[in-house]
Amino acid sequence: MSWFKRVEKGIITPTEGKKETPEGLWYKCPSCKTVTNTAEHRKHMYTCPSCNHHDRIDSAEYFEILFDDNKFEELDPNLTSADPLEFVDTQAYPSRIAITQRKTHLKDAVRSAHGKMNGVDLVVSCMDFKFIGGSMGSVVGEKIARAIDYARTHRIPFLMISKSGGARMMEAGFSLMQMAKTSAKLALLANAKVPYISLLTDPTTGGVTASYAMLGDFNISEPGALIGFAGPRVIKETIGKDLPKGFQSAEFVLEHGFLDFIVDRKQLKQQLTDLLTMLQPEGNAEMAETETVGKKTKKVK
Ligand SMILES: [Zn+2]
Repeated sequence: MSWFKRVEKGIITPTEGKKETPEGLWYKCPSCKTVTNTAEHRKHMYTCPSCNHHDRIDSAEYFEILFDDNKFEELDPNLTSADPLEFVDTQAYPSRIAITQRKTHLKDAVRSAHGKMNGVDLVVSCMDFKFIGGSMGSVVGEKIARAIDYARTHRIPFLMISKSGGARMMEAGFSLMQMAKTSAKLALLANAKVPYISLLTDPTTGGVTASYAMLGDFNISEPGALIGFAGPRVIKETIGKDLPKGFQSAEFVLEHGFLDFIVDRKQLKQQLTDLLTMLQPEGNAEMAETETVGKKTKKVK
């Protein structure tokens, strides 16, 4: 019997039965090149133990970091994109969406959820960069608008975690309308005096920076995050000057007055809790018992 001859013919292994390469055991920091094991990296909330480089993470990780025991109720989980412009680039838009959904197990580039953070109610919308570059299309705008409405009607603070390359070109003008829609919803939230905190993470650019990401009662960021509107090359060509060092980093943006503070991811949950407790000294429970009468807020006895 030959060892090299396949005895059984027509072996077909289903995809789920195929052996996956085990998840990498080591993580190499792209900034300082230090190698740590992935468990350690995860324990540090995906920041480098050596240089504190904050790695890009997705909504699943942010929800796990913020919500107590990773418990939350997802809002509008099934909204998916239509194709109003019948847009085709290297492939048709609906097929790009379908492929991305299969690859990422996400419906679109944002997820919203309601849960408790250190016992304090919180509504979070968090963008996912791996879904077409975290681009803002109609679904992203609509889900954020609905999350803001939910926060307003339930009087729960709203946290937006942005991570985006900007508007989604496959939806062209429909994407741009999301800037106006989300901004209008945030104005209603502000009128209702419900706190809004915007966390800008690496990278936050384009129409997202130009709308909801910069409209927080507090605009905060993670260390080293890229924050800007247009890319450096475009700006350089427009103004015809060299750009200053560190331009568009969170630290630069903070120094120039566009951010309130930068928060280390390992302190994110506690700092957000402190901030919200400070904004609502009476606590959430009592907030829920108040009703708006005219312009004054009156406590219900
Ligand atoms: Zn590092």
